Amino acid sequence: MNSRLQTEYLRAMGIRQWVAREAPACAEEGRVAVEHPGSGRPGLKIPVAAPDWNELQQQVESCTRCALHETRTRTVFGVGNREADWLIIGEAPGRDEDREGEPFVGRAGRLLTEMLFAAGYQRKDVYIANILKCRPPNNRDPSPEEVACCHEYLEHQIALIRPVLILAVGRIAAHNLLNSDLQVGRLRGRVHRYGERQIPLVVTYHPAYLLRSPLEKRKVWEDLQLAQAVYRDHIAGITDN
Ligand code: SF4
Repeated sequence: MNSRLQTEYLRAMGIRQWVAREAPACAEEGRVAVEHPGSGRPGLKIPVAAPDWNELQQQVESCTRCALHETRTRTVFGVGNREADWLIIGEAPGRDEDREGEPFVGRAGRLLTEMLFAAGYQRKDVYIANILKCRPPNNRDPSPEEVACCHEYLEHQIALIRPVLILAVGRIAAHNLLNSDLQVGRLRGRVHRYGERQIPLVVTYHPAYLLRSPLEKRKVWEDLQLAQAVYRDHIAGITDN
């Protein structure tokens, strides 16, 4: 049976057909193919030579790997302590971030700052980055291809920071870091592991969601307490050794 006929039969039977996704256009030569560090997802590319902070920032500022470079105002690299123990990862720049070049500004950003303060941190104590460095038009969800193109930058940031803990903020961050499509409500409340270093990862709601659903703030407080407990265990483990 030819593949077109087979596809039509399967569609008529209500069976969803999985099709291998082609490598994104940004997967160029000169890079080494590796699995997605957090999930075993194949096809993402990490260059052999890791850049330092300045090189990495310059690469991002001049990046044209995906079409988002055509509509961005500024790239949003990341901000904070480059030796932080806590790495906060959100989804993608919104309108305010695109204008200011900094992640988590505006109302949602102020709420994240309050969340961190409740956990005993100021913004300058942690590092804050996003899955994507450029704003998707109209704040739409990032496409898998855009995430794949941009993933290398985040991976280098993680390698340079070597955080003790990752806090994945919101659905897009959680899904892409954990290669999962479960709801945030089912991913939060437990400790995941990310990458070869098995970095503890805690999922919580995005502050933009909390602005719409303030009753969920209690759950975010529970998530932050979980993150604090994981971090304290790590510090206690170092002290004991
Ligand atoms: S989103 Fe990432 S991959 Fe796409 S142009 Fe911006 S920096 Fe490059």
